[in-house]
Amino acid sequence: MDDCIFCRIAGGDIPSDIVLEDADFVAFRDINPKAAQHVLVIPREHIVSLNDLDGRAGDVGHRLLQFIVKVATAVGVVESGYRALTNVGPDGGQEVQHLHFHILGGEELEDF
Ligand code: 5GP
Ligand code: ZN
Repeated sequence: MDDCIFCRIAGGDIPSDIVLEDADFVAFRDINPKAAQHVLVIPREHIVSLNDLDGRAGDVGHRLLQFIVKVATAVGVVESGYRALTNVGPDGGQEVQHLHFHILGGEELEDF
């Protein structure tokens, strides 16, 4: 998708600070970090949101969660703790219409 910023990041058209990547997923630092560590995890495939995971081949949701733990390990928060969240739709505050999980940590996070 040429008009999707996260597809373009996954494809290398837009530079990003990549933390970890494999054949299916990319993790890169958020351009506007909300915590000491703030990384976004996306599937390379254009999936709009969590609502669109159902029925996908290859158990992408499970593998995405496993990849998130690898990212948490790579940025050194897996023991100290972190938050993994995804915003869905207008009320969820989703600004980019390509599924992404925020990985937040590196400091004690405020309750929400
Ligand atoms: P959302 O509000 O959709 O859950 O989160 C979108 C996130 O993407 C925001 O935290 C925003 O800072 C981040 N973001 C938007 N554009 C870019 C970009 O071009 N590069 C990077 N690294 N992050 C971006
Ligand atoms: Zn996309």
